[in-house]
Amino acid sequence: MANTSESANLIRSVAIIGSGMSGLTAATRLKDAGVSVVLFEKSRGPGGRLAAKRVGDGAIDIGAQYFTIRSDDFREFLDTYAGKDCYAQWDGKLRYQTPDKRWTAFRASTRYVGVPRMTAISRALSAGLDIRFETRISHLARDENQKWLVFDADEQVEGHFDAVIVTTPPAQARDLMIDSGLDISLQDPVFHDYPLQACWTVAARFSEPVPFDGDGLSAEHPILQWAANNSSKPGRASKADGGVEGDWWVLHARADWSEMHQHASADWVREQMLNGFAEVIDAPVRAEESRIHRWLYAKTASDQKAPGHRWYPVLRVGLCGDWLQGGRVEGAFESAGSLLDELRQRGAIR
Ligand SMILES: Cc1cc2nc3c(=O)[nH]c(=O)nc-3n(C[C@H](O)[C@H](O)[C@H](O)COP(=O)(O)OP(=O)(O)OC[C@H]3O[C@@H](n4cnc5c(N)ncnc54)[C@H](O)[C@@H]3O)c2cc1C
Repeated sequence: MANTSESANLIRSVAIIGSGMSGLTAATRLKDAGVSVVLFEKSRGPGGRLAAKRVGDGAIDIGAQYFTIRSDDFREFLDTYAGKDCYAQWDGKLRYQTPDKRWTAFRASTRYVGVPRMTAISRALSAGLDIRFETRISHLARDENQKWLVFDADEQVEGHFDAVIVTTPPAQARDLMIDSGLDISLQDPVFHDYPLQACWTVAARFSEPVPFDGDGLSAEHPILQWAANNSSKPGRASKADGGVEGDWWVLHARADWSEMHQHASADWVREQMLNGFAEVIDAPVRAEESRIHRWLYAKTASDQKAPGHRWYPVLRVGLCGDWLQGGRVEGAFESAGSLLDELRQRGAIR
């Protein structure tokens, strides 16, 4: 009898929505536990906010700029499943501006980047996983056996699953729940308590080396929050390494400014940000070419301690993602890990 209920409780198939760091971590761990997993990703490739924009034959990091490896668990995961070759330490000299506009060194920390671009990590992690790209999941419904049917934006059923794990930013997760007729999004404050804020991003190539004594900066400026010399990261500088030629910098606007100008024209935003950069470094730099991207959901806005993940046992629906674990790449990894720990404790996976 015990065996029968134990077996009925076991999750054998899972749909994971989103193939960012949290979705890829959850999928890898579930696959190791013998669970059949399909990932659904609305974009053309994996990685989510571990993102790079194509420029010529190479690409520039436009999402996460670097990541930390604080836990042995994260390092072991990366080395085992992505491989040591797809990431490296970035020894860039980072400076931040004090309110009285003086430049000071960043707190000492070891920072890592994907090589030759951030997406090298998600590409490597996704090898061997069943991922359906360009498939935006619009809603979920139960079949007659109480399995989850997963519907794409064309109303096509993408499969039947014992459980669903949603790894999208909270606003998109909430919409998915509402469109699936699940009122957990109304009952659980988690969907509102840990919002992600917008971030306008410009990648710009300068013909002359930018006259700033550093490879990255955090500014005290009404528009610009962050700028980094993409070309200073390992494996970026030469085309032969898969990098991009020229002095490419990535600029991130402040969250409040990005929210306020979410719907402004890209050309106007680009000009404001490039002018802002020239003001911050106090030099009349001119970009030869540039790319712009608007992140509607970029970084966590809450400094409250987040719960790590969510699992709704009756529904067999889970949530994980950076926003549930303090933001950042390593947080996304940890959030997926904590969800799987709960599933194991409940006897839902082995
Ligand atoms: C501009 C910027 C700068 C950052 N800087 C840093 C940094 O320096 N250091 C750091 O550690 N972190 C940084 N971050 C944060 C870091 O990128 C994230 O914490 C991490 O990548 C989040 O991973 P995730 O899996 O939780 O979410 P995501 O990467 O957002 O993954 C969610 C995935 O779900 C997909 N998706 C959404 N809706 C659907 C749907 N309906 N159907 C199918 N797929 C869907 C999305 O396309 C996406 O691929 C930055 C982020 C941005 C945007």
